[in-house]
Amino acid sequence: MTVLVFLDPAHPAGRLVDASSPAILATDQGVTRGDGIFESMLAVNGVPRKIQAHLQRLAGSARTMDLTIPPADVWQAAIETAVAAFGAAEGQHSGAAVNGEKQCVVKLIATRGPEGGNTPTAWVQVSAISPALAEQRAKGLDVILLERGYDSDIAIRAPWLLLGAKTLSYAVNMAALRHAHEQGADDVIFTSGDSLVLEGPTSSVLLAHISDDSGVPVKRLITPHLDTGILPGTTQGALFAAAKEAGWELGYGPVTPADLLDADAVWLISSLRLLAPVNTIDGAEIGTAAIRERLSEELSAILATTL
Ligand code: PLP
Repeated sequence: MTVLVFLDPAHPAGRLVDASSPAILATDQGVTRGDGIFESMLAVNGVPRKIQAHLQRLAGSARTMDLTIPPADVWQAAIETAVAAFGAAEGQHSGAAVNGEKQCVVKLIATRGPEGGNTPTAWVQVSAISPALAEQRAKGLDVILLERGYDSDIAIRAPWLLLGAKTLSYAVNMAALRHAHEQGADDVIFTSGDSLVLEGPTSSVLLAHISDDSGVPVKRLITPHLDTGILPGTTQGALFAAAKEAGWELGYGPVTPADLLDADAVWLISSLRLLAPVNTIDGAEIGTAAIRERLSEELSAILATTL
């Protein structure tokens, strides 16, 4: 089941529409050109997580592509309407139960609107969460490295590539995932032309060290630097803030593929999947199963306190 609520000046709380009926013009530039932006967030027991971080990133993506979108309070009203409608349709609270919690996916989407006009189309979509995501958290992932096709300094040199914005043009990301599945892998970590680690097609990359080069215990979390043109992950950001409080040292890349293989644990982290441990990269095991499991438990508990 899917609930759709359009942002519409004539309806301050949003305009609920029948998701099984046509709702977008075929000339909408989101459809004809992929010209638009989106956010995906998790709602637990009817409460969207990290809503301010997602609204801020949505506004940042809009600025990057000179798109005028409705202000945050209008989004918030439509989100409330959509989550409530989903909850009402599914019984009390929304979505499938995961560990006793009812979870659902809240997507915010804004496009440049119909061709020839200057009015963005904006809506909120609420749907059930895929059970595969909880499975990935529990079982971990086999990942392959794939070239993203640009150097790590391109974001600064070529702002028209819209790197760092969450645009609707995810066809390449989805193709990379299909390629991984054809190779028998679960997911992908993109690398730059100059061989730095970037991000997953739908996730940020995180690595941990629990001892330094001389074997002295440390607690160090590292993620690739944002200058590489990756999306600023709201989940990675939330985890870093809480992990610092819990005594972890934090670092930002550059990260190389060798750094990933050398880590005690690597995760793909995102709003819907949360922390999914990487078991292997290109067939090479990362750390040991016991360490991956222990660190995943520790960091998942830290992450849970922030969301
Ligand atoms: N990088 C990319 C390309 C993504 O698509 C996503 C999420 O979908 C992320 C990183 C992680 O972002 P967040 O933690 O805000 O979900």
